[in-house]
Formats: sequence, structure tokens, C-alpha cells
Amino acid sequence: MDMAEKPLPRITPDNAPFWEGCRSGELRLPHCESCDGAYWPPSPFCPGCFGDAVGWRPASGRGRVSTFTIVHQKWFPSFADDVPYNAAQIELEEGPRLTANLVDVANEDIAVGMAVEVVFDPVSDAVTLPRFRPVAG
Ligand SMILES: [Zn+2]
Repeated sequence: MDMAEKPLPRITPDNAPFWEGCRSGELRLPHCESCDGAYWPPSPFCPGCFGDAVGWRPASGRGRVSTFTIVHQKWFPSFADDVPYNAAQIELEEGPRLTANLVDVANEDIAVGMAVEVVFDPVSDAVTLPRFRPVAG
């Protein structure tokens, strides 16, 4: 791998619907028909009830910052120009938590509990990353 290239998520049969959704501007979550809940990460069975009646549903794209960190260390050469950058965990309205970057907010203004909504950032032909930005309320 080119050291200047940022690593991208690996698209697998289990997570492909998620990445297809991102490319089309829709956040999707795996959903269990048996216990009627969303879950994460994608898998062919529900981690709550182990049922295999699972599918994908559109998510609201809204949630709240449940935790975050500001990365100052140049762990990866490809991210050297980005430090300090944030990495946040977003608790979605549907329950699952996603790890993503926050955009349109200064690192010093990020707070736990901040209401956010998804935005989509096409970073390659194959991968569009979900990121989150603050919303009022
Ligand atoms: Zn279930």
C-alpha cells in the first residue's frame, strides 16, 4: 500500500448494503425482524436474539455524540497532514453506535451529547464515508 494513501473500509458481503447506501446518500442499518431492532456491526444474524431473519432498513441519519477523541499523534503517515483530527462515536437514534469523523465543527467545540446528522463524503469511486455534522437541538 502506498504510505501516502489513507486506508479505506473493506467492503464485504455482510457490509456491502451499508456502503451501497452511503454511495446513494442513505444511511442504512441491519435490522432484525424477530426482535424489531437495528444492530451494528453488520452480520448475517442478530447479535441480540441470534435470529437470522435480518435485513436492511434506512436509518434517520441523526444521533448524538456519545464519546470522542482528538488525535494529535501522527500514527499513520497518510494522516500526518490532518492532525489534530477528531474521531467520534455517534449513538444513532435507532440505537447502534457508529465511529466517524465530525465535520463543520471546531475540535474544541465538540461535546458529548451534541446532536448530529449524517453527511456523505465520496472519498473514492467505491467508498463514500459517512461523517456527521452538528444540528440545532
Ligand atoms: Zn434480533
